[in-house]
Amino acid sequence: MLELTSVSSGYHGLEILHEVSLTVGPAEIVAIVGANGAGKSTTLKTIVGEVRVQSGSVRYQDQPVGFGKTHALARRGLMLVPEHRELFGSLTVMENLRMGARARSGRTRFEEDWILGLFPILAERRTQLAETMSGGQQQMLAIARALMSAPELLMLDEPSTGLSPLLTEAVFRAIPAIRDEGVSILIVEQNAGQVLAIADRAYVLESGSVALEGAASELASDDRVRSAYLGG
Ligand code: ATP
Repeated sequence: MLELTSVSSGYHGLEILHEVSLTVGPAEIVAIVGANGAGKSTTLKTIVGEVRVQSGSVRYQDQPVGFGKTHALARRGLMLVPEHRELFGSLTVMENLRMGARARSGRTRFEEDWILGLFPILAERRTQLAETMSGGQQQMLAIARALMSAPELLMLDEPSTGLSPLLTEAVFRAIPAIRDEGVSILIVEQNAGQVLAIADRAYVLESGSVALEGAASELASDDRVRSAYLGG
C-alpha cells in the first residue's frame, strides 16, 4: 500500500529525515511514535508530497509519489488529517462533511450514516459551526470529513493533541473500526501507550531516523520504549 525506501527529506536544504524506510500494508494500523521534533510530522508531510524527498523513494499503491501532488493523492485515496485539522470553521458539521465528499468524485466507501454512527456527537450537532466545537469534536469532524472522501490509506497526525482523556478514548476506539472496513491507517502519536495498544506494527523515530521497529505489542513491552515513551 505504502512503501518508503531510505527516504531523506527536510526543509530548505536541511535534512530532517535520514534514510527512513517503512511500509503500511492493506488494512493495517501502523504507528510512528517518538519525542517532540523527532520528525513524525515531517514523515507524513513527505509522504503526501508537501516536503521534498532529497533521496530515496515514496511509493503509494506501487506508484511514485511526486512533490506537490497532494490533491492528486487524495483523489487516489491517500488522505492526511493534519494536526491542526484545517476544518472550514464558518461551515457547519454537515457542510464540512460534504466538502470531504468532494475531494474524491465517484465511489464512496462509507455512507454518511455509518460515519455519523462512528461519532454520534457529530450527528447531534449537524448544524453547529465547526469553529464553535471543542478540540475533540473538531478532531472527530476532521476524521469524519476525511472518511467522506473514501480513503484507502488514512494518515492521522497526533489525533489526541488537546483532547480530554474521554474524547481521546472515543477517537482511539474509532480507529480500529475504520480499519475493520478495510482502510489502512498510519498514525503519528506522542501518546505511545494508547497508540501501541491499537496498532499492528510500529516505528520509533529518533532524531529523524528509525531507531526501532516491530510488532506494536512487542515494542510496548520493550524496555527502551517503556523508559523513553511509556513512563518507565
Ligand atoms: P512534534 O510532535 O513536535 O510535532 P515531530 O516529531 O512531528 O514533533 P516534526 O514536526 O517533523 O517533528 O519536526 C522535525 C524537525 O523539523 C524539528 O527540528 C523542526 O524544528 C523541523 N521543522 C519542522 N517544520 C519545519 C519547517 N517548516 N521549516 C524548517 N524546519 C522545520
